[in-house]
Amino acid sequence: MTLDTDQIKAETKEPVLNSKAPVQEEVSKMHMDQYYKRLFPFETFYKWLNYSTKEPTQYLKNREFSFTIENDIYLRYQSFASFEEMKREIIAKCPNKIDIGAIYNIPPKLAKTVQSGVLKPQEKELVFDIDMTDYDDIRTCCTGGDICHKCWGWMSAAMKILNEALRALQLDNSARKAIINYLSVIRGGEDQSKKVNIGIGENHPHIQRSLKIANSYFKKVVLGSQNVLKFPSGWKKMLEIIPVNDLKTRLDAKWSKENEELGIPNNPKINGSVNSSAKDEDIDMDTESISIERWEELVDCLEQEGNKKSKERIYPATLISEIVLQYVYPRLDENVSTHLNHLLKSPFCIHPKTGKVCVPIGHHEIDKFDPMTAPTIFTLLKEIDNYDSTNTTEEGRSSVPDIEKTSLKKYTKMFDMLVNKIPDTDPSRKDNLSF
Ligand SMILES: [Zn+2]
Repeated sequence: MTLDTDQIKAETKEPVLNSKAPVQEEVSKMHMDQYYKRLFPFETFYKWLNYSTKEPTQYLKNREFSFTIENDIYLRYQSFASFEEMKREIIAKCPNKIDIGAIYNIPPKLAKTVQSGVLKPQEKELVFDIDMTDYDDIRTCCTGGDICHKCWGWMSAAMKILNEALRALQLDNSARKAIINYLSVIRGGEDQSKKVNIGIGENHPHIQRSLKIANSYFKKVVLGSQNVLKFPSGWKKMLEIIPVNDLKTRLDAKWSKENEELGIPNNPKINGSVNSSAKDEDIDMDTESISIERWEELVDCLEQEGNKKSKERIYPATLISEIVLQYVYPRLDENVSTHLNHLLKSPFCIHPKTGKVCVPIGHHEIDKFDPMTAPTIFTLLKEIDNYDSTNTTEEGRSSVPDIEKTSLKKYTKMFDMLVNKIPDTDPSRKDNLSF
């Protein structure tokens, strides 16, 4: 029976376009079981959520966990009275995904035994969720859930900008909404072309700090690896922001003509985005700097416009900063940050499709981190097997914890370091517990 369904699945899979791409392994219950029993860092996980290594506190006991188990069954309002119960339940239920929610007034597992309205969320860590799909309108490499080195640059920019902003703030849980408001720079939906308005003159310190970081990412990621001004769809999007019509028409015509002469296709995603790993090589050397040239041209034109004393005067410096922010500033999912009962995927979860481990990284590591080679549940279990097969004595195998045999070690160590920064006895310092 199992074999039959496997065969059907294999036959109905999307055709693999790149023959070099390995056939995707599927995450099975056996993989998950081994992972929780041998690799999941329960001790640090407990300390992280409990704000103490010692007795269970309200932070753990009243914390909501939710599990996604087989057949996408979603178990909300799980909670644990102790480390042992948490570990036992996670191993027994073997969830495909763990989400972490708020801290409630009573243990959430009592939800069914109390009258509705009694269970109330009290507090939650300040979290930011950034979804790569929110960059699709300006991404030239991938769409949807796909990701490659080129789009990772935006995540790097996001982490640096948020880190600078948060360091400048004294965090207070009750000020959650105010913080998100303060951090909201990009506003407006799809029908609004220009989404950033910073005002003319001296900028707010948060804008100044963000711009300092955003400027270099704009050159490196937006103009460089994303090459957004190479294709008509990309430059039209940027020109929409500019309020001078004849300038738009002039540049659009000029760049269209250039593209025709250079034989550049009209659509950046013409080859699809299935094989994102093959994308890095396909930067056309002749057009590598075309977006940088075009951006300089646009800036020159804006400065000339700014010198005109016409009625609808534009302020080039402000407009340029606004464009840079619109393209680089982190696109935050505000609901996740402002709503107490929003759940967020736990660190060390396994992505059900790719098998990748959701690893924590510090902001200093962001540029060294390569999302394409992040450890997967498959590679980790193989690493244990490899280690064990080269250590033929039972003592050699069992004297080393399984985690030490794998490349996950680096990330659990990072997690340990972060959590250990928090003194056991001082739960008021819990706001420092962020990545
Ligand atoms: Zn990409």
